[in-house]
Amino acid sequence: MVDELRIRFPNLPEQLAGLPELAYNLWWSWNPQARMLFKKLDRVAWKESGHNPVRMLKELPQGVLEHAARDAEYLHHYNAVIARYRREIASRSGWFQEDVMDAGEKTIAYFSAEYGLHHSLPFYAGGLGFLAGDHLKECSDLRVPLFAVGFMYPEGYLRQRIRSDGWQENVDEVLVRDAAPILRVLDGTGEQLLVKVPLIEPAVHVALWKVSVGRVSLYLLDTDIDENDPWNRSISAHLYIGDIEQRLRQEIVLGIGGSEALSIMGVAHSVLHLNEGHPAFAILERIRMRVAEGATFEEASAAVRATTVFTTHTPVPAGHDVFPFTLMDKYFSKYYPLLGLSREAFLQLGVHPAEPSAGFNMTAFALRMSTHHNGVSIRHGEVARRMWMSLWPDRKEEDVPISSVTNGVHVPSWIEPKMELLFNRYLGPGWLDDHDSPVIWELVNDIPDEELWKAHFWLKMKLHNFIREQVRKRWVDDRISATNVVAGGTILDPTTLTIGFARRFATYKRADLIFRDLERLRPLLSNRWQPVQIIFAGKAHPADDAGKRILQKIFSFAIDPGMSGRIAFVENYDEQLAQYLIHGVDVWMNNPLPPLEASGTSGMKAAVNGIPHLSIADGWWIEGFTGDNGWSFGLRDGPPGDRDGADADELYGIIEKKIVPLYYDVDENGIPRGWIRFMKKSIINCAPRFSARRMVKEYTTRFYQAALKAV
Ligand SMILES: *Cc1c(COP(=O)(O)O)cnc(C)c1O
Repeated sequence: MVDELRIRFPNLPEQLAGLPELAYNLWWSWNPQARMLFKKLDRVAWKESGHNPVRMLKELPQGVLEHAARDAEYLHHYNAVIARYRREIASRSGWFQEDVMDAGEKTIAYFSAEYGLHHSLPFYAGGLGFLAGDHLKECSDLRVPLFAVGFMYPEGYLRQRIRSDGWQENVDEVLVRDAAPILRVLDGTGEQLLVKVPLIEPAVHVALWKVSVGRVSLYLLDTDIDENDPWNRSISAHLYIGDIEQRLRQEIVLGIGGSEALSIMGVAHSVLHLNEGHPAFAILERIRMRVAEGATFEEASAAVRATTVFTTHTPVPAGHDVFPFTLMDKYFSKYYPLLGLSREAFLQLGVHPAEPSAGFNMTAFALRMSTHHNGVSIRHGEVARRMWMSLWPDRKEEDVPISSVTNGVHVPSWIEPKMELLFNRYLGPGWLDDHDSPVIWELVNDIPDEELWKAHFWLKMKLHNFIREQVRKRWVDDRISATNVVAGGTILDPTTLTIGFARRFATYKRADLIFRDLERLRPLLSNRWQPVQIIFAGKAHPADDAGKRILQKIFSFAIDPGMSGRIAFVENYDEQLAQYLIHGVDVWMNNPLPPLEASGTSGMKAAVNGIPHLSIADGWWIEGFTGDNGWSFGLRDGPPGDRDGADADELYGIIEKKIVPLYYDVDENGIPRGWIRFMKKSIINCAPRFSARRMVKEYTTRFYQAALKAV
């Protein structure tokens, strides 16, 4: 492996022979010392590569590498990082082996349609993907024996461009596979492994790639290859294709093609974890193999159920795929007999009793065929029980067997390095090893206010600089209009109280709620001594015109002098921009229409960095809000429906009466003591409880352990 990688970098000096290994394992991305190793080689090249070490190593002039190979200090740093990396990757024991069980050779396969791992790998649309990415990273840290399957979306990048009239356009960018931190999976002859997906005629072939996420391998399926006709090639081009038949084909490739790929690679799994319903056809393959070995459908499905974990992620009905029976017939008529089922019995597996003629519902199917299933916050668990109670007609709503595991974020990935240094100093050097323990975080109280404030202000400046530089580049390179330069945030002021709002522009997220009553908003923005500014970012789905209209409305406020230059819309929300925002604003705002936010995770990322959350009571915030770590509103009961006016009213009230006075109440040294108490409480209360560490431990002890024992 090491030699194979070295061939790709023929000019690499011998002293730095380990760099490719490190570049091809995303482990570097959540270990600051490893990140530094690449950055130190050449800061400008690092930035220009989009923080992609594979690309950077390919493009660096020979002289730079030779210089580093002679630099004693660099070599010292290099040796320390490589030694630690190799030790950690090789280690056979960790939390899972020591505190949970000896699983022997048994493993868990995690299937998801998207993964948010790093901005150099555009295989995500939003929260679901980041949740999956953080899950893999944490499984690596805890040594949970898990590997993963997903898609390589060659056109996954939808670079968002905002026209001068505020309308969103998408520029497709094709991923340069050879410059991305992904490797081909090879067959016995040294060619890339190709797998033929059963069922589909004419045949669909997928090529296989691998991403190393610490100790966890992620296998990616790619249909964009010469062997396929154009319709088949485009199956994995984009995430979540709108056309229903292509969408079905996509899910067949993921679930059934993914399982086939594992068999051909000889990668066995004992337990299956489905992240949302998209990959649920993987269940069918597990049953089919058992039936092929002689089991009845009942025996096979009982064994599969006991070893299947399914996580549902959304209360929004459109988020659950339903395929017409005619389409199911087209693709599955040869499959029914292989399971020992009639057509009716097969289709019945996916019927939602509340709407039996709608088609084959992937969530209903996954719920029926898994023993362990959960929503992603306590509230979402309740909503999911109500939503799916018709599957358990003889049970009361509260007894419907859907529980919840509240989401969490991978702390080493989302904590800002400067904050990490601060924590190293005051929480003790081992805090990261134990970061789901609330006790450790109490030590945040020992951080002097001045130091925390200084670090925060530095991050705020960094955010403002980043925004300005992005816009400057667009101005110089692309000649964007002066209007867009203003809208993009160039006249923002880093000394002003800054609220951040960034997420997908789905309509239920109500990005424009704060513009509901301009007579209330304007005085907040234009206040001479205590102004407020708001930074927006986010992409609308390319087919979602309603979402694009909301975005356009916000853009129009950003260029309206009546808003005092205090509103900005920053283009192209991605993992990198998210990092700057969640580190550098003062308040993180969230106001979806309850109960449609299953969990939400960006607020957790902000909270870990000391950014208090201002959110409607929905998703994780119902559990996270303690009264002194942020602000909660929209608590009243009542039907969802038209509540915008009342919600906006409460939102203004909190900003006017609570947030602004607290933020601007500074002592003689310019330190807002009361505000810093909220910042500290945010970290103390949220970091341990909403860490991916707590989350993965829950999945493991509540589901994986039982499922592994049931094999
Ligand atoms: C964390 C994250 C999300 C999900 O955040 P929500 O709070 O669920 O909206 C979406 N996009 C990016 C880039 C993220 O980092």
